[in-house]
Amino acid sequence: MKITSIRLERLAVPLKHPYHLSQEYGIFSLATPVLVIMETDEGITGIGECDPWPLFTGDSAESVMTVLEHHLAPMLIGADPTNINELHRRMDAAIRNQHLAKSALDMAAYDIWGKWSGMPVHQLLGGKRRDTIRCMWSIGGSTPEESAAEVLEAKALGYDGCMIKIGGPNWKLDAARTRAVREAVGKDYPLIVDANQGWDLDTARRYGREIRDCGILFFEQPLQSWDVEGMASLRRCLDMPLSADEGVATLQDAMRLIKAEAVDIFSIKVTKNGGIRPAKAICEYAAAHGIQVFFNSMIEEGITQAASLQIGATCKNIVNTIGHAYFSPNRLEKDISDFHTHIHVAEGFVDVPDGPGLGITPDWDAIAGYRVETRTVTEPYKA
Ligand SMILES: [Mg+2]
Repeated sequence: MKITSIRLERLAVPLKHPYHLSQEYGIFSLATPVLVIMETDEGITGIGECDPWPLFTGDSAESVMTVLEHHLAPMLIGADPTNINELHRRMDAAIRNQHLAKSALDMAAYDIWGKWSGMPVHQLLGGKRRDTIRCMWSIGGSTPEESAAEVLEAKALGYDGCMIKIGGPNWKLDAARTRAVREAVGKDYPLIVDANQGWDLDTARRYGREIRDCGILFFEQPLQSWDVEGMASLRRCLDMPLSADEGVATLQDAMRLIKAEAVDIFSIKVTKNGGIRPAKAICEYAAAHGIQVFFNSMIEEGITQAASLQIGATCKNIVNTIGHAYFSPNRLEKDISDFHTHIHVAEGFVDVPDGPGLGITPDWDAIAGYRVETRTVTEPYKA
């Protein structure tokens, strides 16, 4: 089987409500997914998605489109989509890094491989260890009263835990929000906090000490992604597990963080991590070192979420104290696939799709409705 054409679709999908994040990121109100539709000479089509976020990943939707059109897609025309290792070799030979763009192609190839073999991706990854995964919600920055009201709403809907977005310019306000959420929701509801690189070591330490009695399960990415020593120092002085998100894009990042004893948990995001194969490699490396994995999400549509869920179903070291971030399409105006039918909010879980490939069906009308531009690559790369 050979890849014959790769169509790129750049979309713009509004969020239902603006999402207030750390002072590093500001307010997020429009998602800009880039889709890859991969065709083969056997008539099997695969789909992939990536979710550029310039301040988070260093990629914009426009830059991802350029990299896909001019560097990566031409390298894969004529390649066998079931040989994932060869696809990554070709992509890495074309351009360094660019994890987002590579992830969409990796995902589409897994989708084809699964459809071709009649198996879900979780089976291609060695087999699922669970049929469902608990699902949480995430609340953005606001007042303590609004944060408390939102966590009660999430709990009433059925979500199994909440992430509180912190990392704002006033750490005392974030501490007050954290405490207000805990007091509103009761002592047993699972809560985590995520500063999205918003603070320096001193601020993170002050916040962590202030909320030490709030029963927070873990504290995600308080410091800049590159600050491995800072994370290790914070971990030594706070009696609270730390999670790396922006700091763990690659397997090499994972190695450095573990060697420095800087983290307890890795946040896995399939597009940030460069696709299903590299994300799974980080999960396995983490497992071998006693590190748990938390399935997190960019502002993702259902295609990326399905890819993430296929991996999550296979990992033995998945965090079991809180649900995972398989709620993202519910934050957006509309899902562009039927992934959302797998989110059972009232029961607080997502069910793992067992259909071939990613196990979801794209909503082509929704994709057309959100389209900004489309391009198609059919010619192989010529040096
Ligand atoms: Mg995060």
